[in-house]
Amino acid sequence: MVEMIRTHSAIVLRPTPFEEGGLVVSFLTEHGERLVGLARGAKKPTAKWVSSFEPLGLVKVGFFGREQAEIKRVTRCELQHSPMTLGHLESSLVVACLADVFDRVAREGVEDDRLFRLLSACARCLKEDPSRSLAVLAYAEHWMLHLMGLLPHPRLCGRCGGGEAPLVLFTQDHGWCCAACTPVDPREALPPGTREHLKLLRTLPAAQAPDPGGSEAARAVTRILRDRLRRELGGLKSYEVLEKLVVPC
Ligand SMILES: [Zn+2]
Repeated sequence: MVEMIRTHSAIVLRPTPFEEGGLVVSFLTEHGERLVGLARGAKKPTAKWVSSFEPLGLVKVGFFGREQAEIKRVTRCELQHSPMTLGHLESSLVVACLADVFDRVAREGVEDDRLFRLLSACARCLKEDPSRSLAVLAYAEHWMLHLMGLLPHPRLCGRCGGGEAPLVLFTQDHGWCCAACTPVDPREALPPGTREHLKLLRTLPAAQAPDPGGSEAARAVTRILRDRLRRELGGLKSYEVLEKLVVPC
């Protein structure tokens, strides 16, 4: 049985209260693996790390415990970067949604450094311009679906393979379907500009993520992708709060 201390750069996902004022905290390491640690006494006001467990905070965290232990002990946790802007409701809600989504998707024992790159880029953008929080969230949802293999490329129709006709429908089986092969009531069809908005999501960096409420197509795509992700991950409390407090785009 080997006991050892390991130090990681990581992003805090979810702190959950545990007995005697402790916290069980999940992290996304720089290699994109989910790790869970117990921080004893972290909720006491004198605790040295009281502000270190904010969701989406970038931290240097030390774990101690047996290699195979399910829950290791957190020995230290230093905050390096916080995405939070005090008093900015929208950005705090988006922070909670992103923490929830990544906490569900990241796995113990599985490394995927694309998860860390995506989440740290989003956290930086939230800090730099909290007024663009909803754009950052929609951007993250798009890439998360892509990383999960649930988002077919929009260039060619998923049913007939054509690339010319406008996209009119998104289905779980075929992905994006075009007007040439899929008859859809015009009132229910995807708005013009859907393919173009998807292209912006794929090609722009997080800091320039397109406005999710900027056009009819942007609103439709945002809604479809968010619904798809929420359906896949199941009841995400943070999204219920977001929906209640923020006017949908
Ligand atoms: Zn088609």
